[in-house]
Amino acid sequence: MSGITIALSKGRIFDETLPLLDAAGIVPADNPESSRKLIIGTNRADVRIVIVRASDVPTYVQYGAADLGIAGKDVLLEHGGAGLYQPLDLEIAKCRMSVAVPQGFDYVQAVQRGARLRVATKYIHTAREHFAGKGVHVDLIKLYGSMELAPLAGLAEAIVDLVSSGGTLKANNLVEVEQIMPISSRLIVNQASLKVKREALQPVIDCFAAAVARQAKA
Ligand code: ATP
Ligand code: MG
Repeated sequence: MSGITIALSKGRIFDETLPLLDAAGIVPADNPESSRKLIIGTNRADVRIVIVRASDVPTYVQYGAADLGIAGKDVLLEHGGAGLYQPLDLEIAKCRMSVAVPQGFDYVQAVQRGARLRVATKYIHTAREHFAGKGVHVDLIKLYGSMELAPLAGLAEAIVDLVSSGGTLKANNLVEVEQIMPISSRLIVNQASLKVKREALQPVIDCFAAAVARQAKA
């Protein structure tokens, strides 16, 4: 397909991408929060947006169903990044990947003891790397959401999850015991698209880069 297809997830990524699109002269014709459309046109006849799950964005871009996309580092680490260029950290949707345990659980001692720690997470790959790097033996349990429930329900002793304000952890009597890495969202580009459609894509990438640089200074 000629023209540019951009894959975005609705919610914070869509909202925080609007100013970047604006800087590139791209204005979506609908808001995915109120419209049920999965393909959204823009003010530019040659640019459309496809609305997909956050964790599906790299897949759409990898296979060229979208030329560009915006995805969190958390999602990209789990996907692996095959077929993708990641030219820009957009510094949006910022949070951190952390280990959390129930209040009163002695994490340091549990880790030192060398016993296997049961950890529930959506981020199996990142969690495995993290604990392997520390030499901590873990049994990882894959979840798709509401990680906070796992320790409370007795499914796991610890979770690996994204934290921003810490409000959700606090509301569930969990404490952050280790920060694994800072997380922000990146622009991703299909490698073949970048070669074939460079004339159309490069100006958009450049406008995003300029907007990020302006934001960093502000
Ligand atoms: P879904 O809600 O469809 O299950 P999701 O939870 O991954 O998927 P979002 O909540 O929209 O989708 O999160 C999209 C991205 O925003 C995440 O991949 C992450 O990079 C970032 N993010 C997630 N939670 C926060 C947060 N509390 N604060 C800031 N950024 C966040
Ligand atoms: Mg979410």
